[in-house]
Amino acid sequence: MPPVIHESSQKRWQNWHQSYIQKLELLVDVWNEDASQSTVPGYIDTTRGLQGLIQRALTQRLELRGLGGGWSFTKAPATSGILVNTRPLNYLFPAPRTHPAHPGRREDLLFTQCGVSVAELNHFLKRIGKSLTTSGASNGQTIAGAIGTGTHGSNLETGAMQDFVVGLHLVVSPDRHVWLERASAPVINDEIPQKLGAELVRDDALFNAALVGLGGFGLVHGVLMEVVDLYYLQAYRRRMPLTEELWRAFDQLDFSGITLPGPPGLKPYHFTAVINPNDMDRGVFVTVMYKHARCPEGSTPPSPGSKLTQGDNGLEIIGVLTDMVSELTIPLLSRLMDRFYTEYENVCGTHGELFTDTTTRGKAWGSAVAVPLGRVRETVELALAINRAQPFPGLFGLRYTLPSRATLAFTQHAPMTCILDIDGTASTRTKSYNRRVWQQLAKSSIPHTYHWGKFHELDGPAVRGRYGEAHVNAWLEARRTLLPTPELRAAFANDYLRGLGLA
Ligand SMILES: Cc1cc2nc3c(=O)[nH]c(=O)nc-3n(C[C@H](O)[C@H](O)[C@H](O)COP(=O)(O)OP(=O)(O)OC[C@H]3O[C@@H](n4cnc5c(N)ncnc54)[C@H](O)[C@@H]3O)c2cc1C
Repeated sequence: MPPVIHESSQKRWQNWHQSYIQKLELLVDVWNEDASQSTVPGYIDTTRGLQGLIQRALTQRLELRGLGGGWSFTKAPATSGILVNTRPLNYLFPAPRTHPAHPGRREDLLFTQCGVSVAELNHFLKRIGKSLTTSGASNGQTIAGAIGTGTHGSNLETGAMQDFVVGLHLVVSPDRHVWLERASAPVINDEIPQKLGAELVRDDALFNAALVGLGGFGLVHGVLMEVVDLYYLQAYRRRMPLTEELWRAFDQLDFSGITLPGPPGLKPYHFTAVINPNDMDRGVFVTVMYKHARCPEGSTPPSPGSKLTQGDNGLEIIGVLTDMVSELTIPLLSRLMDRFYTEYENVCGTHGELFTDTTTRGKAWGSAVAVPLGRVRETVELALAINRAQPFPGLFGLRYTLPSRATLAFTQHAPMTCILDIDGTASTRTKSYNRRVWQQLAKSSIPHTYHWGKFHELDGPAVRGRYGEAHVNAWLEARRTLLPTPELRAAFANDYLRGLGLA
């Protein structure tokens, strides 16, 4: 039975954070015919429905774009043509049959439809004794949307979210859909793409490019991911003086000079800092989480009712606080931080219990710049110096991840990428502050890249300069291979990609 395609009469669409309004021809919500039960025939019918939408876009010469949670601050998910809301597509197929050469266990794989949210994934995986290795600090993104811009957390042992993805089911034209994997690491049993009617393509370059595809590689219908056995995180947050030793921890992840909160001798699994640049004399907030098979005796569970949770970062803090007050000034931010972003000890829960749902929207504005280890202090000091000259009510966050294999991942810096989040209120002051930081960074020798889903002012030459000519060319080449006609490439382009020189 064909999927239910609901056409909205809405001619304007706004992203979650209301940072822009986009005029469009058509907004459609796509539902599996039987939304309550994951079935292969239902999935196949929905693939056909998505192909029908591509045909319609081509016939009417309209753009077409997959929409996830709409959480991007940038216009990555925006289109003037047909916006395909994929959030209702939430089938889940655990433990698919694997390729004989795949060394891993079948139960460590999960095949999901594109619209499953990170929150849904956390709940489902917990029920079957599994977990995501990482996610962003909060969890309203869909899986396709999260990987589409390269969403990351701050896990010292893994990469960003796209780095646990091992297969993609892409609907690329009215008569073609492909199952894409790395040739160097086949994972799925050939039988499954055959059953889905998908063309099996094993190619490292194509797969790595399509992973962080910015909606430009067709409609992502399914995502095959590696999951791990359920684990627990024992979490601590402490305000610590910003000593030379703590700078070394931020810059090099060298913890030898400091005493991290928590049990001695354990290696942190998760490490982040939140810095209020206007209130540093009282120290900076360091959050550390240790991984365990079970919660240690004496730990306390996370309190789900609290406004801010253990895993929250700068963006969530600003979002919550701007929901409470009409104007977030510098002194007020410090006072509210004292009240709501407090130290805690020995709280333990699953990944999904610590990095939870965000229901507040707030008037927040976020950017994120990624730099390699060894250049972190320089980057933060550059941002601090600009704040001294032009203070803004906002927060810096430091998060870390292993470099990604995705061609255009912004978390690409080896040996480890540090992400400096700069989060503030949605005000001209925050924007002009960020602009100064970006200008100074462009003049510096620090290698840096920007989060595709958060604010930036990149254009074509800047993208080539920051992400590398070879990476951009490989991404464009892969896009030409998967979308071989100019009509298809035009259909899956938008203003955002054109502005970046990626259409
Ligand atoms: C409150 C908040 C917290 C955040 N926290 C973090 C964080 O901790 N770490 C981090 O890295 N980022 C974070 N972000 C940024 C966010 O994770 C990214 O912008 C992410 O891409 C949003 O996912 P989404 O599902 O909302 O996707 P959307 O914004 O809807 O789309 C993102 C991209 O994916 C494409 N896409 C979506 N679905 C499909 C599909 N089915 N087929 C093809 N293309 C598709 C869209 O076209 C678009 O190009 C946060 C944002 C907010 C608002």
